Amino acid sequence: MFKVTEKNFKFGTDVLSKGIYINEPATNPEATPIYMTTAFNVEDLDDLQKRYDEHGFCYNRNRNPNRSALVELMSYAEHGEDSIICSSGMAAISTAIISNLKQGDHIVSDMTLYGETIDIFTRVLEHFGVETTFVDFTDTECIKAAIQPNTRILYTETVSNPMITVPNLKEIADIAHNNNAIFIVDNTFMTCVQCRPLDFGADIVVNSLTKFANGHSDAVCGSATGKMSLIKKAYELQVLLGTQADPFSCWLVQRGFRTIELRLKQQAKNGEALAKALEKSPYVLKVNHPSLINHPQHKLAMEQFNGFGGMLSVELPEDRDKMNKFMRSLSFAHYAMTLGGYRTTLSYPVMSSHYDVPKEERLKMGITDGLLRVSCGIEDTDDLVNDFLNALEIAYK
Ligand SMILES: *Cc1c(COP(=O)(O)O)cnc(C)c1O
Repeated sequence: MFKVTEKNFKFGTDVLSKGIYINEPATNPEATPIYMTTAFNVEDLDDLQKRYDEHGFCYNRNRNPNRSALVELMSYAEHGEDSIICSSGMAAISTAIISNLKQGDHIVSDMTLYGETIDIFTRVLEHFGVETTFVDFTDTECIKAAIQPNTRILYTETVSNPMITVPNLKEIADIAHNNNAIFIVDNTFMTCVQCRPLDFGADIVVNSLTKFANGHSDAVCGSATGKMSLIKKAYELQVLLGTQADPFSCWLVQRGFRTIELRLKQQAKNGEALAKALEKSPYVLKVNHPSLINHPQHKLAMEQFNGFGGMLSVELPEDRDKMNKFMRSLSFAHYAMTLGGYRTTLSYPVMSSHYDVPKEERLKMGITDGLLRVSCGIEDTDDLVNDFLNALEIAYK
C-alpha cells in the first residue's frame, strides 16, 4: 500500500506546514500566534544555559519564535542549511556581504543590479577599503578576467533589473570556487518556486521577502540562506548590527509565503502571456522576458528556471505624453515603487532604480526613456492582457 512519508511531499504541500513554532497546548491555535515581546522569562540559570545551547528564546534581537519560524521556512524553501531573517532585503544583502569581507578584499559584481545593492558596494564598502569591479555577468569570460588574487565575493541576481537577462549560475559558481571566492545570488525576482541558486552551487542566496515571497505588499523583510558556517557569521553580525526583522513582519511574510507556489505560477503565466501579446503589438518596440524565443538567454532560462517569472520590461516610443496617457488608461496595472505583489505594478527605471545612472551608461544597458518595467500580479490572464492592449490603442493609435 502507498504510504505517505515526508519524502513524498511536494513543495506545495510542505510549504504549508514548515516553520510553525507553536507550543501552546492549552489553546492549540491553527495559525501561528505573533510573539510581540522583547524578552522571554527564564526559570533559572540551568534554563538559561539550555536556551543558549538549544537556540532558545531569550531576547528579541537574538531570536524570536516568529523569526525562527521564518528561518526554518526559508532554509527549507531555498534548500539551505540555515538562514537569517532581516528587517529588509537590503539588511539581509548587506549583512550577508559584510560578514564575508575584510579590508583589502575585492568583489566582482554584476553591473545590472538593484540600485541600492550597487550603492552598498560603491558608497559603503569602498570607504572600508573593499573594491568592486562591475562586469556583464551574462559573459563568463568577463567575470574570469575581472578576478583578482584578493577577490572574495562574486555577486549577481537570478534575473537582472530591468532588462531581465539571465546569468549562468553553475558556471559562475565554478569560477568563484576555483578562485577561493564565494558566490552570492539575489533571488528576489524568481523566488525558490522558479529557481534555487544554492542547487546550482551558489553559497548564499538572498531574497527581498518584501516582494514576491510575501506577495501582499504589506511587509518589508529579507533573508539570507546558505551553508551553516556562512550563515553563522552573518547571524553573529546581524545580532551586533541589529538588522533583525520584527515579529509582525515575520508573521506577515510567513502567512504570505504559504501561497507562493499558486501565486508564482499565475504571475509567470501572466508574464509569458503579456510578453507574447505585447511583442506582437505594432506600438511596442521591444519586450524583455525570458519566455520569448529571441531573448538572449532563452535556452539557459529553460534549463535553469522552473517558469520564466512575472517580471518583464517593455520599450515604448520615447514620447512622454503618450506614455502618460498609456499609464493613465490602464485599469489594473498601477505605478508603485515595489514589485511582486498580487496586483500588477509598473515602474519607470529612468526615474526610479536608475535615476542616478548617467544617461550614456543606462543607454548602454538598454534602459531607454521609453522603458517600462512590469511586475505581473495574479489577475485573470485575459483581463490583464486586454487591459494593456486597450491602453496601447488609446495612447498610441
Ligand atoms: C526590492 C529589492 C531589494 C531590496 O529589498 P528591500 O526589502 O526593499 O530592502 C533587493 N534586491 C532586489 C532584486 C529587489 O527587488
